[in-house]
Amino acid sequence: MPRTAAPPPASPPRDRRRTSASVVLRSVLEHGPVARSTIARLTGLSPASVTDYCARFTELGLIRETRAPQKAKGVGRPHVPVDLDDSRFVVGGVHVAVPYTTVALLDLRGRVVVRRELKHAGRTEPRALLARAAAGLAALLDEVPGSRPLGVGVAVGGWVDRDTGTVVEHPLLGWREVPVRELLGAHTGLPVHVDGHARALVNGERLFGRARGSRSVLHLFVGNVVDAAFATGDEVHHGPRSQAGTIAHLPVPGGTEPCGCGRTGCLQVELSERTLVRRARAAGVVDGANPMDVLAAARRGDPVAVRLLVERARLTGRAAALLLDVLNPESVVVTEVGALYREDCLAALREAVGPQRAPVVPTSFGDGVLAVAGGSVVLDVLYRDPLSASPERI
Ligand SMILES: [Zn+2]
Repeated sequence: MPRTAAPPPASPPRDRRRTSASVVLRSVLEHGPVARSTIARLTGLSPASVTDYCARFTELGLIRETRAPQKAKGVGRPHVPVDLDDSRFVVGGVHVAVPYTTVALLDLRGRVVVRRELKHAGRTEPRALLARAAAGLAALLDEVPGSRPLGVGVAVGGWVDRDTGTVVEHPLLGWREVPVRELLGAHTGLPVHVDGHARALVNGERLFGRARGSRSVLHLFVGNVVDAAFATGDEVHHGPRSQAGTIAHLPVPGGTEPCGCGRTGCLQVELSERTLVRRARAAGVVDGANPMDVLAAARRGDPVAVRLLVERARLTGRAAALLLDVLNPESVVVTEVGALYREDCLAALREAVGPQRAPVVPTSFGDGVLAVAGGSVVLDVLYRDPLSASPERI
């Protein structure tokens, strides 16, 4: 019989070291170019320890000294500022949507260097799809000579278990227990990190977007998949097996769409882009399956397209209001195509959320949002633990 396991040995020095490394690199991300003395002042770390971390990051190729030294007031020694070195490393980003996969390269600031959409055309068998994504990433790396990939982040809707790198369930893709990390890792030879796209984008907003500095943020993703993610401080809530944020089957009062779960008026089926496009097709507004065509029709002044988009934004606002009641975040980010491109949609969404609430803003990443989602998964790992995720080890 196994004996009772001894408690794991405490390792505060290692944890502290990790945290400090993360704090220093984040400080360079947020304030660079920045003098080491300023980092010490901002972070409360000792100047010697900041200098030490900066030397290690410079060695790893993550940061570099900027060319123009700034003279410190009244002191002879120049304070050479440091900044992220965005010339050397990139990360790969993969986002799997229902109709297409986005592959991209991002720099260390989370900026999209290059991206491409790979249409599924009905072919969503996971092994073949991930092989095509890996080939797509390899083609992008060929296009950007000299770029060295640190790793790949994959963002997918549905139920994604970050710890095992598995898509547990994604009914719209027909995926179940897909070991994405393992499959894509085998194709690319790179470390692969996987997370749900709503959570990935909370991290993107926290690191590179408008939610930077926010103490709590709710992100609502409304595409074909509808899900939510919530972060307090730097921690995104995952829950056991990363099941948090699955709001696809929240009931929407007055909803009329039949859902695959057997009920009527579930949030995801009411708000999904498929439903939007189907309604637009039925009204003769569009003839394809692309939600961007509905936006184009609205831009041309088609009143039905405008009404469909505004209604969808309003419903999104009602869903956000329900979540706000539970979570009371300081800021709310919504990734929804109407609110992203149209003032009337954003206004309808905000009105449905109601006054006296946290400010609601559209995603910070515009039409690059899906590329950023994938890249954010791996950049979050890097900024959390830069020394373990260093170029030699990542
Ligand atoms: Zn349902």
